Amino acid sequence: MINRDKLIAAYMKEYNLPQDVAEKRADQTIAKLEEMYKQKQDNSNTEGEEDSEEEFEEWVVSEVICVKCLERWIAVRPSDVLLKKLQCPRCSYIGAAIETGEEFYAEEWDEENSEE
Ligand SMILES: [Zn+2]
Repeated sequence: MINRDKLIAAYMKEYNLPQDVAEKRADQTIAKLEEMYKQKQDNSNTEGEEDSEEEFEEWVVSEVICVKCLERWIAVRPSDVLLKKLQCPRCSYIGAAIETGEEFYAEEWDEENSEE
C-alpha cells in the first residue's frame, strides 16, 4: 500500500503544512484508499484473494483541482479510479476534479515498496 511517510512529506512540501496537519491529511487519504480497496475486494470476491493485491498496485499520485471551488489537492488513487469519481475534499462535489499536470512520487513509491 501507500507509503505514509512519503505522503506526509508530499503534503508538507507541496502545501507548506505543519506536520500534524499533513499527518491528518495523509491518514484521511489512506483511510479512503483502504475503503476503496475493500469495495474493490467485495466486487471481485470470486477472484483469488492473492491476485487482488497485485492488481491493486498501480497508483496514480497527482495534483488535481476542483473546477467548482478551485480547491487543489494531491489525489492518490488506484489507476483504474477515474477522475470523475473523485470527491472534492472542500465542497464535496464529485466529478469536478481535473488534473493540474503535476504528477509525483508514484515511481519512488513503487521502488521503495518493492524492497520488502
Ligand atoms: Zn470543490
